[in-house]
Amino acid sequence: MKNFAYVRTSSVSEAVQQASSQPNAMFIAGGTNLVDRMKAFLDQPTQLIDITRLDMTRIESSRDGMRLGALVSNTAVADHPEIRRNYPMVSRAILLGASQQIRNVATVGGNLLQRTRCPYYYDTAFACNKRQPGSGCAALTGINRMHALFGASDQCIAVHPSDMCVPLAALDAIVEVEGSQGKRQIPFTEFHRLPENTPQRDSNLEPGELITAIVLPSLPFAQSSVYLKLRDRASYAFALVSVAAAIEVASDRKIQAARLAMGGVAHKPWRLTTAEQFLIGKPAQAETFQQAAEIAMQAAQPLSDNRFKVGLGQRAIRRALTIAANGGGVA
Ligand code: SF4
Repeated sequence: MKNFAYVRTSSVSEAVQQASSQPNAMFIAGGTNLVDRMKAFLDQPTQLIDITRLDMTRIESSRDGMRLGALVSNTAVADHPEIRRNYPMVSRAILLGASQQIRNVATVGGNLLQRTRCPYYYDTAFACNKRQPGSGCAALTGINRMHALFGASDQCIAVHPSDMCVPLAALDAIVEVEGSQGKRQIPFTEFHRLPENTPQRDSNLEPGELITAIVLPSLPFAQSSVYLKLRDRASYAFALVSVAAAIEVASDRKIQAARLAMGGVAHKPWRLTTAEQFLIGKPAQAETFQQAAEIAMQAAQPLSDNRFKVGLGQRAIRRALTIAANGGGVA
């Protein structure tokens, strides 16, 4: 780890001003991914701006939904009674990620900003365009069973590692940020970026901008949502594929509305809008769910080692929709 200066801030405006005046500064809260990256010399900030004392630690409810301060711990979100009742897929996704100890200190804002766990990114012996733009991508010809099915480029085929972000994409959450130019709101599905020619950029945050909160819009049928995660082992593992699903089923068993997103398959949480549209008006039954799963995976572009994720993804979508149609809950 390289030496760095440390400063603790007491207000959002002070933190933003500090970051704007130091081009190579970074914010730190839980630090559960950042410190690992610093130890591996992947990030070498000249200054860390400690934001843990800022007033961003509340979970607020209103008729329009819920607002999660950026410093709320992952554990506090997962355990919150209204999150568990109104957005079970969010609670479940968090509980299926990391360990209890990490969830206790990892924050909502930091969850969005964690970086890919592509092994070549963390191993400086290998070429990686995300770590060093222009150096190449070792995963293209290496072991890529964990890598992307959708939206990859010839520069980077990594996937976003977060579980929590998958249901947030399905919910059309909003990311509130503040920077030197003021406050703005970013729709969740526009927050993370595809790699294209700039894989070193994971999000559309501008330099020095700070995430201040996440807003979950009210979505009554999300009460019967589900998050399903498939991985190599039952805990402490990243998703091979994951699915966040919520559907609203009328009394005649026709589907009124649907939300569907996948994790482990793209450089950002991958919203399945074509499959969502297909589901509207269809009977909530196995054949419909199978067709929706096939539609969802139609555009997949598997790599040399991850063709299995296409079938796995289909089965995961079918199962998640079946559970959601029957009241959601623990998958
Ligand atoms: Fe780096 Fe992306 Fe290639 Fe992984 S997939 S080695 S993160 S450029």
